[in-house]
Amino acid sequence: MTTKPWDATILTLYPEMFPGPLGISLSGDALARGTWALEARQIREHGIGRHRAVDDSPAGGGAGMVLRCDVLGAAIDAAAAPGDTRPRLLMSPRGRPLTQRRVRDLAEGPGLVIVCGRFEGVDERVIAARNLEEVSIGDYILSGGEMAAMVVLDACIRLLPGVMGKSASGEEESFEGGLLEYPHYTRPRDWEGHAIPDILNGGNHGAIARWRRQEAERITRERRPDLASTDKSPSPDKSPSTKA
Ligand code: SAH
Repeated sequence: MTTKPWDATILTLYPEMFPGPLGISLSGDALARGTWALEARQIREHGIGRHRAVDDSPAGGGAGMVLRCDVLGAAIDAAAAPGDTRPRLLMSPRGRPLTQRRVRDLAEGPGLVIVCGRFEGVDERVIAARNLEEVSIGDYILSGGEMAAMVVLDACIRLLPGVMGKSASGEEESFEGGLLEYPHYTRPRDWEGHAIPDILNGGNHGAIARWRRQEAERITRERRPDLASTDKSPSPDKSPSTKA
């Protein structure tokens, strides 16, 4: 039985940027196996006139250029047929910041249509008219939506069935239980005078789980108190006695 790939369509002025880094390692192997599919479409194919113009100056004046709503509307209509149930994202610093929870939802769905902005952004009217969900990858400004789209795709693809070797490695990661992850160590046991914490060498799995939980809570409290205070998800109870 073959299952339908998780289906990503990217609308961009630079389709040659894809798959880019998504073509190697975990996501690249998964692409080659058909776990996910990628189509990067050139917005300019829907541009206006002989020069296939895609942008124009902002109404009301001001610096820069704005992607035209008629051009983007036509590009979206050509990429997503009626009945296409995939969420449509617009990469945008004004959007709701991406979270691991949203990534999980998106990975469980049929795939994504992602519109990549450029210049000053896109004509506001197309956002509502084509039901675009604005998504941000953080409070800083990129020059275009392409790298932001790659971030969204990478985060989703690694969660698709069979992409990560050990599925447990997804569940214990930062954010999954509303906590940042505990610290990792590996060989050598002593390095430049720094030893691995004793407890990790003892083989007492209950004690190790408790220690990791405490470390995760400490690091989250110190670095991201906002995560701890807004966490509504159950703690990832790996051991029945994680609370000391
Ligand atoms: N003038 C806009 C920024 C435009 S940046 C503003 O001040 O809000 C050009 C494009 O890059 C955007 O349309 C968007 O697609 C992308 N982009 C920039 N920063 C981003 C971010 N933090 N998250 C997601 N997309 C971003």
